[in-house]
Formats: sequence, C-alpha cells, structure tokens
Amino acid sequence: MKSLAIIGAGAAGMFCAAALRGAKNLRISILEASGAPLKKVLLSGGGRCNFTNAAIDGGDPKDFYPRGARHMRKPLRAFGCGAAREFFRSIGAESKIEADGRVFPVSDDSRTVAAALEKSAAKCEMRFGFRADSLRPAGDCWEICGQRNGRRETLRADFALVATGGRWQRGLEKSVEALGGKFSDPVPTLFPFDLDRAKDGEWENLSGVSVADARADAYANGREFSARGALLVTRSGIGGPAALKLSAFGARDFAECGYSFGMRVNWIPRASDEDFKREILSARRSFPKRSLRNSPLFGLPRSLWEYLCRSAGVSERLWAGFSKADGAALKAALSADEMRAVGKSAHKGEFATCGGLECGCVDFKTCSLKGRPRLFFAGECLDIDGITGGFNLHAAWATAKICADSIKNFAENEG
Ligand SMILES: Cc1cc2nc3c(=O)[nH]c(=O)nc-3n(C[C@H](O)[C@H](O)[C@H](O)COP(=O)(O)OP(=O)(O)OC[C@H]3O[C@@H](n4cnc5c(N)ncnc54)[C@H](O)[C@@H]3O)c2cc1C
Repeated sequence: MKSLAIIGAGAAGMFCAAALRGAKNLRISILEASGAPLKKVLLSGGGRCNFTNAAIDGGDPKDFYPRGARHMRKPLRAFGCGAAREFFRSIGAESKIEADGRVFPVSDDSRTVAAALEKSAAKCEMRFGFRADSLRPAGDCWEICGQRNGRRETLRADFALVATGGRWQRGLEKSVEALGGKFSDPVPTLFPFDLDRAKDGEWENLSGVSVADARADAYANGREFSARGALLVTRSGIGGPAALKLSAFGARDFAECGYSFGMRVNWIPRASDEDFKREILSARRSFPKRSLRNSPLFGLPRSLWEYLCRSAGVSERLWAGFSKADGAALKAALSADEMRAVGKSAHKGEFATCGGLECGCVDFKTCSLKGRPRLFFAGECLDIDGITGGFNLHAAWATAKICADSIKNFAENEG
C-alpha cells in the first residue's frame, strides 16, 4: 500500500483527493491548518462558486492567465471547462453556463460543489489543525512536520502534494527551496484602483455609476496594459470587471510602482471616429437649443456624461454653437480620459495572490518538482493566476488533476 500526504484541504487539495477516489493501493491523509476544508470554495463567486469558464475551451490561455499561461496550455487542453463540468457532474454537482461564459452549479450554491468534493474524499484521513512547516525526503518517503494543537506532529508518506494556496508558510517555502524550488514574491492581484481625481467631491458623487463597455489602459514601469469590459465608478476610483482584469495583467508592475502610475479610460471604445462625428452631427440637428449637459450621448449614464462634459469645458454649450475645438475637447474627455492611479483598494468579491513556486521549477507533465518526481504542487501555491470569471478555481482543478493522474499511475504500477 502506498501513501499520499496532501497539505491543504482547499480547492486543489480536495479536488486531488476526489479525483483519486477509488484509486487502488493508495492511502490518503489530508493535513489542514484550519478547522474545516474548502473555506475559499464556499466563499467563492459570492457564495455561488464560479468554478470554471466556457472561454477556456478553445480560448488562448494568455487572455485569462496573466501568469502561467504558457505552462497552462497543455493542462487546459487535457482538462478544460467541459471536462471540469463533467467531473463535477460525476460527483453530484450539475452546472450551468451563464451568458458571459461563467460556470456555476445549477443550485447557485457553493455548498453543492464543496459537499460533492468532501463526499468524494470521505475515505481520506483528515487531520484538521495541522499546520505543516517542513517537508524533507527521508529514504524513499517524504517526512512532513508541523504543529497540531500545540504539539509537534510528523507524517511520513510515499508522495506529498503541496496545495497550500497563495500564501506560503515560510518553513515549507524553505524546505522546497532546499530541494531546488525558486519563488517569486507574492503580490496582490484582482483589485480596484484608487485615483487622484477621487479627492474631488464630483467624482465621489458618481460612485456606483457603471459603463457596460469601457477600455482602461495603464502605463507602469515602462510597460502598457489594457483591459476592456464593464467599468464601475467607486468612491475612491474605478472598479468592476475591466479594472480587475487590468490589475491582474499589471499586478507585478503596479506593485513595483507603488501603485502610482498614469491611466487612460476610453468610455466609448465601440464608437469609431466616424460614429463620433455622426452622433455629434445628429445631436446638433435634432436639438440645437439644448445644452450639451442635458443631452447624454453614446448611451453613457447622465451623471457621467455631465462630469465628462464639464471636464471638457463644454457643459453649458448649446449644440447650435458647438465648434470643432469643442468636438476635439469632448472626444478627448470621452475616449482618452487621463487619470492617475494613486493606490489600490481591497476587493471583497474575489481576490488572489500572484507569485509562488516558479513554473520553471515544475514538470507540468506530472506537476512535480523537477528532479523530485514524488513531490507535487497544485493550485495557487504555483506562480499561476487568472482573471476573474472562474479561471483561478479552474487552475486549481487542472493542476490537481495532473497530480492525481501521476500519483495514481505511480501507486498502481508500484503495487
Ligand atoms: C472571497 C473569494 C472569492 C473567490 N471567488 C472565486 C470564484 O468565484 N472563482 C474562481 O475561480 N476563484 C475564486 N477565488 C479564488 C479561488 O478561491 C482560489 O484561487 C482557490 O481557492 C485556490 O485554491 P488552492 O487550493 O490553491 O488554495 P486554497 O483554496 O486557499 O486552499 C489552501 C488550503 O491550504 C491550507 N493551508 C495553508 N497553509 C497550510 C499549511 N502550512 N499546512 C496545512 N494547511 C495549510 C489553507 O488553510 C487552505 O485550506 C476567490 C477567492 C476569494 C478569497
């Protein structure tokens, strides 16, 4: 009989245990620092658990994994959205795809996903309250030591899987470093931006206004980042899907700049120059006596339109008197709205960490440390992270699935 120690009863650890249900010749122990499994899964997707995304099948990983895309290519081909949905269906969690591609359990309740994983891992030995702090080879085994209820505890196993999430315990990190692992520093990702302009009361009054399709560009550390989607005005700056996506793509550079850099928002990215001219001409003809302030165009919310007209200096202008220079000023305010990020806010919906064990140290055919084929890694402890929309949980499933297949192979062939 072979043995596996899984460190961390989160998404990746529990998925690996569930995927190994029924594996012959294998005994599994799960070591979990807290008192319960799957805490983040339960919180995920606002309690609904957005656990994968239809864009994964046939999409380009670069579009949704700012870090790790290259290494995720094959794992995603082998275990994409369809395969994840089928896996969860097979363990009792049916799912549905929403219009934007996000996948949720049909129940709209993350407890369905958590319960299905727990049930599938029911035969594993669970050791709650076990905080692992070292890992070392001992003969043909791995020796994992940690603190449990104030006492030192040690476990020996043929295989070890590290699935401890984005924040590495320092002792474990040192252990993996001693085995050749390299780490990139953890920095936050998926956050809204604080803006300098938010200090004026006018911006604060816009709080809650959202635009369904906007483009946000950022210039940090000599690099340019861009994201498109819904953008939300917050009390301190901007948030919503486009801002979160931008924060993910530039996470490391934004951190290096101390979250202070130039930004530009195009509030009307769908309007070409021709569309802009046509819409202005039509407004001039249709309501020449009206002031600009009172005639929002391009489907923009009235309060935001008023704000942008004011910043272009054309707010009180009548359409009849609208000049070429006014057109240029309005166009700049609507499609190249310059602002400055001065910090980041906390995002309570979904947050993740970028950084962790560098992908170059890992053999992604087995998800093991290079040169250490019986030591596995899955989930956020790897330097892989995605944008919002189910991509982070999917990365946990896909990497855990590779670990499970490799471990099963070893256990069955070494019987
Ligand atoms: C509020 C919130 C909402 C989210 N919503 C979504 C969403 O809808 N869709 C999506 O794709 N992603 C979402 N995410 C991100 C997603 O939850 C994570 O990417 C995912 O849980 C990572 O899985 P993991 O197994 O690597 O780590 P985790 O789920 O964090 O699990 C790690 C486990 O290891 C344990 N552990 C840590 N160190 C030790 C140690 N030394 N010894 C023993 N145990 C240890 C931890 O207690 C934890 O239980 C959300 C995140 C948050 C915080």
